[in-house]
Amino acid sequence: MKTYPTTETADVVIIGSGAGGAPIAARMAQAGKRVIVLEAGPRFNPENYTADEAGARELYWLNERLSGGANPQAFGGNNSGTGVGGSLLHYGAFMPRPDPRDMQLHTETGMSVDWPFQYDELLPYLEEVEAFIGVSGPKHYPWDPSRSYAFAPPPANSAALKMRESCDALGIRHADGPTALITQAVEQPHFGKREACSNCGACHQGCRNGSKSSADNTWLPLAVAHGAEIRAESVVHTIETDQRGQITGVVYHHKGQDIRQKCDQLVLSAGAVETARLLLHNGLANSSGQVGENYMTHISTQVWGVFDEDLRPNRGYPSLTITEDMMRPKDADFAGGYLIQSLGMMPVTWGSLVARGTTRRGPDLARTLAQYNRSAGLGIHGDCIPHPDNKVVLSHEKDALGIPKPLITHSYGPNELAMHAHASKLLTSLWQAVGAKDIRILDRAAHMIGTARMGTKADSAVVTPFGQSFDIPNLWISDHSTFPSATAANPALTIMALSLRTADAMLRQ
Ligand SMILES: Cc1cc2nc3c(=O)[nH]c(=O)nc-3n(C[C@H](O)[C@H](O)[C@H](O)COP(=O)(O)OP(=O)(O)OC[C@H]3O[C@@H](n4cnc5c(N)ncnc54)[C@H](O)[C@@H]3O)c2cc1C
Ligand code: SF4
Repeated sequence: MKTYPTTETADVVIIGSGAGGAPIAARMAQAGKRVIVLEAGPRFNPENYTADEAGARELYWLNERLSGGANPQAFGGNNSGTGVGGSLLHYGAFMPRPDPRDMQLHTETGMSVDWPFQYDELLPYLEEVEAFIGVSGPKHYPWDPSRSYAFAPPPANSAALKMRESCDALGIRHADGPTALITQAVEQPHFGKREACSNCGACHQGCRNGSKSSADNTWLPLAVAHGAEIRAESVVHTIETDQRGQITGVVYHHKGQDIRQKCDQLVLSAGAVETARLLLHNGLANSSGQVGENYMTHISTQVWGVFDEDLRPNRGYPSLTITEDMMRPKDADFAGGYLIQSLGMMPVTWGSLVARGTTRRGPDLARTLAQYNRSAGLGIHGDCIPHPDNKVVLSHEKDALGIPKPLITHSYGPNELAMHAHASKLLTSLWQAVGAKDIRILDRAAHMIGTARMGTKADSAVVTPFGQSFDIPNLWISDHSTFPSATAANPALTIMALSLRTADAMLRQ
C-alpha cells in the first residue's frame, strides 16, 4: 500500500471505510486522486474470524451510545461495526434493491418526504455495485422480472424452507432473496481468490472465505491498487476550517498521538450516528439546523416459532427466503410497506434478542432458550418516516477522548406502530399455518438512518442530492445519514450506489 507523509495535503480524506466510504475511495483513487481513508477500527485478517459469537465482538462498534425515546434502540453489534471495511465486515449480506415507490412516498401518500431524485437515476449505480461485488439471486425475481443476478442462490436453510411452506399456505409469493455472496469461486481483481460460499452460516461473525461481498474484499483492494492509503486505528475528532469556513484538514487520534492531516476535499462516511456527532461536535455544516435530525431505523419486527423437529437455526446462510408482496398491502392502514425475510440465527444473538424483546424471565426464559434448536424466525424490514422528535444530539457524558457521547432519541410514530401491528398479525398467521408453537413477537428496530439528509433546499437539508454540503463546498457526506426516508430495503446496496454517485459528482467539479 502506498503511504503519504502527513505533511502532504491529500486530494481527498475519507472518514470511515464502510459501505459509504469504500466505493468512493476506489472511484476517486481510480481517477488519480491522492486518497487517504481514516478508519477508527483495526485491520482484520479474515483467517482469524471465528464462528464463535463472543470472539467476533472485535468487529462491533461498542463505544457507548445513550439511548432514549419511547422505543429506545439497543446499540452495539446489532447495528454497527468497526474496522477496515466498516459494518459490512459483519453484516448479513441480504441485498434487495430499494422499491422505486419508497423514494417518492410523499407524492404517493402525502406522508414522509420524497427523495430528491428518481429511482431511474440510481439504477445504473445499483447495477454497477451488484456486478462489481458479486450478488446471488434467483433467475426470475417475481417483483422485478427485468433483473438478473450473476450467481445462483446458496442452499436454503430450515427457516427459509419453512417460510416457503408458510407463504404457499397463505397464497403469498416468495423467492430466494438477493444475497451479497458468491456461490462460485472468483478471482477478485486486486484481492485474489474468493471461495464459493460454504453455507457455514457465520456471516455475522465475518466471512473467512471472502465469499461474502464486503468492502474489504472488493472496493478497498481496488482503492489501494490505485494508490489510496488506508490508515487503521485512526479516530478523527477534529475537523479544521479556514477563515472562509472551508475545510482544511482533520486531526485524528492514533496510538496515543494526535495527528493532523490536511486535505482539499473531506468525505464523511462514519455512519449515521458518528457523522452527525462529528459535525455537531465541530459545529459545522448546520445552517439548516438539520444535522442530527430525522433519525430513522427500519421497523424490524420478528416473529419466532417453535417446531416439532430440529431446525438448527445456526446452520446455513441465515436469511434466504424473501417476499415483497407486503410492499403495498391492500389492507394497509399505513403509508409504505415492508419486506419479509426468513431468519436463522446464532445462539447468543438469539438468546439476547429473546431476553431483550420479551418479558420472559427465570424458568420461563430458560424454557424458551432451551427450544433454540427447534426455532425459526420471520422478520420484516419496514419503511420508516422521518419524525422531528427522533434525533442524535451530543450528551453531557464524554468518551475517552473527551468528546461528548451521542444521545439518540427514537420513538415509533403512528405509521410505524400501524406497520408493526400489521406485520405482527401476518407473521403470526404465517407461522400458525405451518404448525409453529409458542409463537413470540419481538418488537425490534434495525439500522441507523438519517441525521444529515439530502434535499434540494439548503434550509431543510444538510447536503445536496449528490451529497455535497450546502454550507461547505469541500465537505461531502457518503453514508447512511443522507437518506431522506428509510425505504424498506436493507440499505447496504443503496449506500454503496449513492457513494459512487457522489464520487462522480466530485469528479465533475
Ligand atoms: C449485524 C448487522 C447486520 C446487517 N445486515 C445487513 C444486511 O443483511 N443487508 C444490508 O443491506 N445491510 C445490513 N446491515 C446494515 C449495513 O451494514 C449498514 O447500513 C451499512 O454498512 C452502513 O454503512 P455506513 O457507511 O453508513 O457505515 P459503516 O459501515 O458503519 O461505516 C462507518 C465506519 O466509520 C468508522 N468511524 C466512525 N467514526 C469514526 C471516526 N470518528 N474516525 C474514523 N473512523 C470512524 C467506523 O469504525 C466504521 O468502520 C447490517 C448491519 C449490522 C450491524
Ligand atoms: S455463509 Fe457463506 S458468505 Fe456467510 S460466512 Fe459462511 S461462507 Fe461466508
